[in-house]
Amino acid sequence: MKFFTARKELNQYLQLQKKSGCSIGFTPTMGALHDGHLALIKKSKQENNISVCSIFVNPAQFNDKADFEKYPQTLETDINLLEKINCDILFAPTVNEIYQQPDNPDEIYALGFLDKTLEGLYRPGHFQGVCKVMYRLLTIVDADNLYMGQKDYQQCMVVKKLIELADFKVQLHICKTIREENGLAMSSRNMRLSVKQKEAALAIYQSLIYIKKEISKSMPSLIIENVKKKLVESGFEKIDYVSVANATNLELINEWDGKTPLVALVAAFIGNVRLIDNMILAED
Ligand code: AMP
Repeated sequence: MKFFTARKELNQYLQLQKKSGCSIGFTPTMGALHDGHLALIKKSKQENNISVCSIFVNPAQFNDKADFEKYPQTLETDINLLEKINCDILFAPTVNEIYQQPDNPDEIYALGFLDKTLEGLYRPGHFQGVCKVMYRLLTIVDADNLYMGQKDYQQCMVVKKLIELADFKVQLHICKTIREENGLAMSSRNMRLSVKQKEAALAIYQSLIYIKKEISKSMPSLIIENVKKKLVESGFEKIDYVSVANATNLELINEWDGKTPLVALVAAFIGNVRLIDNMILAED
C-alpha cells in the first residue's frame, strides 16, 4: 500500500494513473476502522483499478470539542487492516495540509433544509464542516467513484448535494450499513462504550425494527413516543431525535399515506457517546 500525507503528491500520482486509463475509487473515513469501512473499500476494489482510503479526523465537522478530542485514533491498526485487504493507497494528511488557507467566511454551502433538520439541527455547523473537508478531498483525489455508508444517511444526502453544487464528476455509491451479529450498527464510537453500554446500545436497532413493524398500523407520533420510552428504559440518557421522514428529502412525516418512501432515524446518547442509526421503512 502506498502512503501519502501531502495533497500535491497524491494528486499528481493519481492524475498520472488516470491519464494511463486507471479508474479511481475513493473511501473517505475518520479512521478507527471497522468492518463497515472495510466493506466500502472492498466494494471500491471490485469496481476500480485503484482504491484510495483517506483517514482524517476533520475538526471542522465537530460541533462538540470534547467529542473531537475523544475521537479514537488507531492509525497503526488501521494500516494493518488496510494492508490485509490490499487497499492501494492511504491518504492521511495533517489538519494543516487539508486547511492550508486561513478559514474563509464565504465558504458556505447552500444545503437548504438538509442543514436545518435532524443532524443539521442538533449539530449546528456539522454539515458545513463535512462539505469543507469533502470539497477538498474530492478535489485532491478526483475519483471516478465515491463510496459512503447508509449508516450516515443524511450525510450521504449532503454529499450528493455538494457533488451537484460543485459539479464534481464523481459517482456516489451508498453502501448498506454493516452491523454486528446482534444488529448494532458498527461505528468507531462503539470503541468508547463499555460491554454493558454496548448491550444497551442495541436498543436503537431494536427500535428501528419496531418502527418498521408498526408503521403501517399506527401513527408515527405514537410509535415514536413508545420508542423514546424504550430507549430511556434501556439506558439511553439523552435522545436527540427519533424521527420518521420522507426518504428522499427528510421532511418529517406525521401521517403516512402508505406510498411515500420512508426512513426512520435515531440519534441518542449512552453516557457521553452519541450514536446514530437509521432504517429504510418503505422504498420508492
Ligand atoms: P466515519 O469514519 O465514521 O466518518 O465513516 C466513514 C465512512 O464509512 C462513511 O461513509 C460512513 O457512512 C461509513 N460507515 C461508517 N460506519 C459504517 C457501517 N457500520 N456500515 C457501513 N458504512 C459505514
